[in-house]
Amino acid sequence: MIKRRKTRPVYVGNVKIGDDAPVVVQSMTDTKTHNIEETLSQINRLHEAGCEIVRVAAPTEKDAKALPEIVKNSPIPVIADIHFSPRIAFLALESGIHGIRLNPGNISDEGKIKEILQECKKKNIAVRLGINSGSLEERLLEKYGYPTAEALAESALYWSEFFEKVGFTNFKVSIKGSDVLQNIQANKIFAEKTDIPLHIGITEAGPSGKGSIKSAVGIGILLYMGIGDTVRVSLTADPVEEVKVAYQILQSLGLRRRGIEIISCPTCGRIEVNLPEVVKKVEEKLEGETLPIKVAIMGCVVNAIGEAREADIGLACGNRSALLFKEGQPIKRVSEDEMVDQLLKEIKKMKESGKYGGAGDKG
Ligand code: SF4
Repeated sequence: MIKRRKTRPVYVGNVKIGDDAPVVVQSMTDTKTHNIEETLSQINRLHEAGCEIVRVAAPTEKDAKALPEIVKNSPIPVIADIHFSPRIAFLALESGIHGIRLNPGNISDEGKIKEILQECKKKNIAVRLGINSGSLEERLLEKYGYPTAEALAESALYWSEFFEKVGFTNFKVSIKGSDVLQNIQANKIFAEKTDIPLHIGITEAGPSGKGSIKSAVGIGILLYMGIGDTVRVSLTADPVEEVKVAYQILQSLGLRRRGIEIISCPTCGRIEVNLPEVVKKVEEKLEGETLPIKVAIMGCVVNAIGEAREADIGLACGNRSALLFKEGQPIKRVSEDEMVDQLLKEIKKMKESGKYGGAGDKG
């Protein structure tokens, strides 16, 4: 059981981050924000996949002007991503937005940052204070030579103190670098010194496959240390993929549960059914299913009986057939041809029973 770091609560719209809230899953749209229709369509897909807060880029005035319509129609709180321009930040603050992401490293005017924070306080808008290895302040680069973990943590601590000094506390911090070890270390240093909630992730992790592994290692280690109140997996892929990977990471650590968890063996020379085909079909048929249950599909009796019994439902395969287990008990023997259908039929009954919850989740 992971003991999570005690943090203070921050609210982005109606979503609580930190304190006793479950680790919140976020993503970011990759559409042009001024294309309202496409952006909202992607936000809806992200929401269906389980995304709880969405960030949209606001690089131009045209994008900032699209925000009111997007915020009004989004099913989840929206954060505007602001870089370089205080003017766009002020425009975003007029849009009904739930949060903004500010990177003080690229808005050098402290007076302007103070004004933005005062406006956020007035309008109850949350801020994500973003520290990135690519945009660290000049003075820290001079002090450390390059963006070390210590330099990133020092920047995050400096700006957190600045925010608090001007009376602003509804913020969380993200400290991101694309180097996994640097990222872990920087977050650890910061976490030991404050109770400010942390948004964690490995920035620019890469394409889907490699990026998911890198994210799982970096985010997973931090979560295991109890660090991380909200998470974004950054992939060069459809953002819906980011949400799925985030839930897989959280599910692996027992921090969240959403949808079916399939446990299947790697297969070996003992196998007597086409297990990869069975798993593929089950995965396809259950795509998008939110019932929070464990389904075991095991190739032979070596581990099958044990695994199938541990799961909510499972198949323990043998010679061209399988034993179908449910809630720890064998309920029937099914042939290879009918095993997928029979398994799905029983899962449908489980869903209809209402006993396992709907879009299940646990914090
Ligand atoms: S469960 Fe059986 S078939 Fe699957 S990998 Fe283990 S020994 Fe091989």
